[in-house]
Amino acid sequence: MSKVAITKCNGYELDKAVSAIRVLMENTDFPQVSGKDVLIKTNLLSDAKPEKGITTNPIIIEALIILLKERGANKIAVGDSPGLQTPNFKPIHSGILEVIEKTGTTWIDFTKETIEKRVYKKTKAPISKAVLDADILISAAKFKTHELMNATGASKNMFGIIPSIHKSKLHLSATSPDSFASLILNLLDIRKPDWSIIDAVIGMEGSGPSNGNLRHIGLLMASNNPLQLDDAERIIMGYKKKDIPILRAAIKRDDHALDSEYTLLDPNGLVIQDFEIIKRKRKKGLFSSLLLPFLRRPFANRGNKRPKPKFDKDKCRLCKRCIEICPAKALSIKDGTIDIKIKKCISCYCCSEVCPFGAISIKE
Ligand code: SF4
Ligand code: SF4
Repeated sequence: MSKVAITKCNGYELDKAVSAIRVLMENTDFPQVSGKDVLIKTNLLSDAKPEKGITTNPIIIEALIILLKERGANKIAVGDSPGLQTPNFKPIHSGILEVIEKTGTTWIDFTKETIEKRVYKKTKAPISKAVLDADILISAAKFKTHELMNATGASKNMFGIIPSIHKSKLHLSATSPDSFASLILNLLDIRKPDWSIIDAVIGMEGSGPSNGNLRHIGLLMASNNPLQLDDAERIIMGYKKKDIPILRAAIKRDDHALDSEYTLLDPNGLVIQDFEIIKRKRKKGLFSSLLLPFLRRPFANRGNKRPKPKFDKDKCRLCKRCIEICPAKALSIKDGTIDIKIKKCISCYCCSEVCPFGAISIKE
C-alpha cells in the first residue's frame, strides 16, 4: 500500500508551488535523491503555451527542481517527446526551456538515444535510454480528461517515454482502450517512475487531453505509485474505478493494485460534482461484453464502434498535422478539406490530440 498525498495549491506562484510540493514529498515515501541523477518526465503532449493547460505547468517543474537541488540531487534533467516532434525540438512555448536555462538543468530529447523493448504482445518500440538509465525517474503529469482513456495522469504520462511518431504507430497493435491500458502497464513494468506528481492546479475537463475546457482544481497530488495516484485523480473527477481502462487492467493483474493510504486530503472529500467527464456507452450483458468482441475479432477494426473524429472545416487550417500522425492512414485532403475514411479509422484520437486549432471533435 503506497502513500498518496494531496494538498491545496491555488495558483502557479513559485513560492506556493515549492511549499506545496515540499509537503507532498514529506507525506509520501519520496526517494532518496542525494548524489543521484534525476530525470523529470514532464507532460509535453505538444509545445503549447502554459495557459492552454495541456502541459505540466513550468512553475511546477521549476519548484520540483528547486526541491531536488535542496535534497542534494546530482544531475537534474527534464525530458519528453511530443507526438509529432521536429528535429532538434526544444520546448520553447511551454515555458519548460526557460526553466531549464534558469535552473542550469538539462533538456533531454527522447528521440536521440533509444533502446528497443517489447511493449505489447510481440510489438516492440523504442524507449528513451535516458529514462531507462536515470537513477530516479519522476513522472510530472497533468490532471486531464482523455478521449480514449477517459482520464490521463501519472501512468499514461509514461507513454511519452516512447519518442514522437512511434507512439501513434502503437495504436495499430493496441487498438482498444483495454489493450492500450495493457500496453501502459507493460511500460510501467519496464520503467516505473520512482515518484509521481499530478499538476491539478488548473486541470482540463470535457474533450481532453488537448481540446477540453480548463477547470480550476487548486490541488497538487503525489505518490510513489502512479496507479494509486491516478485512482485518486479519477475519484476527484467523479469517475468510477471501472470507467478507467488502465485502473481496470491494473486490478485485473493485482487485486491490491489500488490500495492506497491518503496521508493528507482524502480524494473522496474532493469530488467535483459537476466535473465534465468523458461519457462513452459501455457494452452491457454477457453477449455484448464477452461473446461479441470474440466473434468480431477476425474482422479487426470492423468491431470498433467508438465514435469517429469530426472535422470542422471553418476551424481547420490544413496544417496536415492530423494526416501526419494518423497511424491508420485514414486522412487526406480532398476538395480543400480533410477527408476521413471511416472504415480505416481505429478511433485512437491521435489526430484530435495534435490539432492546434481545435478543429477535431469526438462525439458519440
Ligand atoms: S490538424 Fe487540425 S487544422 Fe491541421 S489539418 Fe488537421 S484538422 Fe486541420
Ligand atoms: S482519423 Fe484520427 S482517430 Fe481515426 S485512426 Fe486516424 S488519427 Fe486515429
